[in-house]
Amino acid sequence: MIHGSCLCGVVRFAIERAVGPFELCHCPRCRKASGSAFVAGLGARVEDFHLLSGAELIRTYEAPVRERPPAYRVAFCARCGSPVPDPVPGATWFEIPAGLLDDEPGTCPDKHIFVECKSPWFRIADDLPQLTRRQIIESRRSQSGGPA
Ligand SMILES: [Zn+2]
Ligand SMILES: [Zn+2]
Repeated sequence: MIHGSCLCGVVRFAIERAVGPFELCHCPRCRKASGSAFVAGLGARVEDFHLLSGAELIRTYEAPVRERPPAYRVAFCARCGSPVPDPVPGATWFEIPAGLLDDEPGTCPDKHIFVECKSPWFRIADDLPQLTRRQIIESRRSQSGGPA
């Protein structure tokens, strides 16, 4: 089990495994939601996810849809404000904010995404692939059955 928790420690969860992808998203909404240069999102299967405590503190916010659903959705702890994982009902796959993890997930980020909207003050200094929004849409279209 790979455990994670929010800043105050009330929301605790575990995943049985990380399936990926493990993406660093530089889109403006991820930057605002995190207050940082990017969100590190680790892909997990909903069936591998266990919420251990704090369900009563989880709140969600959906930003207005810009182009097409689904809306950009964030879930957070009402006590401490940390982002927390909260799978959308009916989904099979979702992303865990990787900064919440207390255990080693056994995998590392595999790419940067939405690099065309990257913060001007942040310099990508690793060798990971850098995908634009257009490239992400094209690659997801070609790998049917994968995370959308
Ligand atoms: Zn909390
Ligand atoms: Zn994003």
